[in-house]
Amino acid sequence: MSETRLNRRTTKGASARSGRSCGSCTLCCTHLDIESEPGYSTLLSDGTDIAKPKGQKCRFLGSGGCTVYEVRPLVCREFACDWLLGDKNFKESDHPLKSRIIGVRGVNWHFDVKV
Ligand code: SF4
Ligand code: SF4
Repeated sequence: MSETRLNRRTTKGASARSGRSCGSCTLCCTHLDIESEPGYSTLLSDGTDIAKPKGQKCRFLGSGGCTVYEVRPLVCREFACDWLLGDKNFKESDHPLKSRIIGVRGVNWHFDVKV
């Protein structure tokens, strides 16, 4: 089971609680793996599975963001990185697009690639 998986975290209302928002960031749609597990479907309504390994851009990620945003699966709807959650280890200025760090349940993943 991967440490970078996108799911396993119920984050409903994360932005409202922390006062932070993703903005133009889509780093987690590329740099984290997406796996299904009970209660966290990776399926679109037509049965298409968005599961993917880490480091691979989601096939539904377009230049303007998620192309299936309105119908994105639960695994995407309920994910928030530690910065978005307002984790005390991440200052407001540590947005992943600036820090190149995605925090997932206390584990920090560093990215040097340009977005
Ligand atoms: S990495 Fe964090 S800030 Fe960036 S899109 Fe994902 S949840 Fe939002
Ligand atoms: S379906 Fe949309 S939100 Fe989910 S990983 Fe792909 S691009 Fe990101």
